[in-house]
Amino acid sequence: METILAVAEAKDGNVRKISYEVLTAARSMSSGGQIVAILLGSDSHEHADSLGEYGAKTVYLVNTQNEVGDTSVLFAEALQQLIEQIRPNAILMPHTALGKDVAPRVAARHGLGLVSDVIDIQIVDGEVVFTRPIYAGKAFEKRKMTSGLPFATIRPNNIRPERTTHTEVNKVDLKVHRKDLRTVVKEVVRKTTSTVDLTEAKVVVSGGRGVKSSEGFKLLQELADLLGGAVGASRGACDAEYCDYSLQIGQTGKVITPDLYIAAGISGAIQHVAGMSNSKVIIAINKDPEAPIFQIADYGIVGDLFEVIPMLTEELKQT
Ligand code: FAD
Repeated sequence: METILAVAEAKDGNVRKISYEVLTAARSMSSGGQIVAILLGSDSHEHADSLGEYGAKTVYLVNTQNEVGDTSVLFAEALQQLIEQIRPNAILMPHTALGKDVAPRVAARHGLGLVSDVIDIQIVDGEVVFTRPIYAGKAFEKRKMTSGLPFATIRPNNIRPERTTHTEVNKVDLKVHRKDLRTVVKEVVRKTTSTVDLTEAKVVVSGGRGVKSSEGFKLLQELADLLGGAVGASRGACDAEYCDYSLQIGQTGKVITPDLYIAAGISGAIQHVAGMSNSKVIIAINKDPEAPIFQIADYGIVGDLFEVIPMLTEELKQT
């Protein structure tokens, strides 16, 4: 493939890890072509260099920090501009909140198809075949584009980012030609205070209705902090107002693939499992030995989470 456009994201002054995963995915389908990256949310040349370490030859930088418009609209505008300019043969984007917002806008504007939440890319007989989970993660489907160019969003924490030897990067500051903006962001209020992004965390300690209160969630936060991870939740716990909906994992919440997922007081309903079943190691803590979560857990602890979690925390504090 001659030119692949890989979309990267910066947040809170850092390049998000998913950006390197998208670049690694782009390399797997490039077979000698060039990879052009667009970094949404930063104009730092250091950030551009870091993308070069993962294969980007040219990096277009877009920073909308001082803009008053809706960031997604501006980023979609920037992407549209770049696509018209460089005419890529394929486009890959992160399947993040921003990617899910921007990718369909761009696809619609260019009359393209879009395959979302991709976990694997293969080249079969010269054609790009995307694999994505369906039916809440119970099955996988393979898709290829029958017209237009391959355009997909990539699920975070699924493709292992790999560095290359190529490090020289051509950096271009992309000036977005602003068209009529119909919405303006006046204020952004963060829902969670956690410093670890739930969708990128390597360890997630998640609580369900069994945690019984927002006080109970403090136990989980302590354990997550010790492990350098983030706290997640079932919808049961969110509905009961033990925690914020921004922590919800599952079919109608966030889809995550951490290295370690600890499910405490979560029954394991299919809608929850849809959001975490691809975690590398799952530990379930539940006092009901028949709880469905044990069917997908690598390690199961039948017991009261109010005894098990403090024991785990104490043990970790000793190490
Ligand atoms: P429960 O099912 O009530 O389970 C609580 C568990 O805690 C039990 O297994 C119990 O044995 C255990 N427990 C209790 N006390 C203790 C203790 N002291 N120590 C150890 N274990 C204890 N759910 C999601 O999570 N995410 C979604 O995205 C989602 N989307 C949905 C979409 C739709 C359309 C629908 C219909 C439902 C959705 N749900 C979702 C809800 C889902 O079906 C379940 O109702 C929900 O996941 C249950 O949450 P829970 O496991 O915390 O609660």
